[in-house]
Amino acid sequence: MTTNYFDDLQPLTFDGLDRTAPMIIAGPCSAETREQVLETARGVAAVGVKIFRAGIWKPRTKPGGFEGIGLRGLLWLAEVKRDLGLLTAIEVATRDHVAAALDADIDILWVGARTAANPFAMQEIANALAGHHDVTVLVKNPVNPDLELWIGALQRIAGAGVKRLGAIHRGFSTYGKHLYRNEPQWYIPIELHRRIPQLPILCDPSHMGGRRELIAPISQQALDMGFAGLIIESHCNPDCALSDQNQQVTPEVLNLILNTLVFRQEKQTTENLNLLRQQIDKCDNDLLEVLSRRMRVSREIGQYKLEHNMQVVQNDRYADIMERRTGLATEMGIGAECMQSIMRAIHEESVRQQIEIVNGSTAL
Ligand code: PEP
Ligand code: MN
Repeated sequence: MTTNYFDDLQPLTFDGLDRTAPMIIAGPCSAETREQVLETARGVAAVGVKIFRAGIWKPRTKPGGFEGIGLRGLLWLAEVKRDLGLLTAIEVATRDHVAAALDADIDILWVGARTAANPFAMQEIANALAGHHDVTVLVKNPVNPDLELWIGALQRIAGAGVKRLGAIHRGFSTYGKHLYRNEPQWYIPIELHRRIPQLPILCDPSHMGGRRELIAPISQQALDMGFAGLIIESHCNPDCALSDQNQQVTPEVLNLILNTLVFRQEKQTTENLNLLRQQIDKCDNDLLEVLSRRMRVSREIGQYKLEHNMQVVQNDRYADIMERRTGLATEMGIGAECMQSIMRAIHEESVRQQIEIVNGSTAL
């Protein structure tokens, strides 16, 4: 059961933050120097950001890169909190990180994508959090597109008694070069939201896009889908950043991005929208009726194949169906990939039903 773990979650509200607006977290990928941290924090504060992020331990793919400034960074974050009044957020990956972060009064701890994929590390972090019920913890999706692993990571943190819990969607690793640094696969956070509606989910357009120009469109898409907030990398001098140069923007550019974003109302129901939704309901009913008719014919075919000792799956016919339907769908303005997955699912169910007929008869 997933629900029990998340029954007592509390909303992620902070004093001085508008609880109806999306939560915006911004700051550098890494804390590098005291000057860089303070200058960036002043910059993001000036454009209205209230939560400052900075990585002080950096999980790098290969050794030899900049692996973070370590404990020293906590002192700079304490200055940001004290002198600029910002809330602070850092990444934790071990029990020592958690202990140091709690000691330094960091407001939000996030768990990175590589750590979220490792149940041992997640349990170690959860154990270190036990008893600290007021801290806020955000868990990024694991690097691989595995919703159960993500939910498991969240369960371990909730199981430690953390009530202020959220998730961050930062996309999923794929092999090779693509438009996105990490593929969004939006259906995964959408399904997470369906399964745990009370869990706030933020989007990280910086690590998802991997490029400055993708931050605005990804952010808008996330807001349109009802994400609870954004975590965006911002650096006072991005071109000289020690990590993730290509995806960091200056506080000024961050301001432009935030100003172009349209924050839509969550629930807007008008009479016209209701009428259009009635049409959608009718289309869905028609689809279901056609599908059920198709399955009836398919079962008749199953019976015929059984009586004539024919194989259930006939590859040539399947390939032919896929090709023709995809071609037609494209002409009708439906994406080829979408049509292929619909036809795959329908065919799979047809085969399952025909096999049931065949097995039913052998069982008799
Ligand atoms: C980060 O936020 O700096 C980070 C390392 O991100 P991720 O875990 O998403 O790769
Ligand atoms: Mn980064």
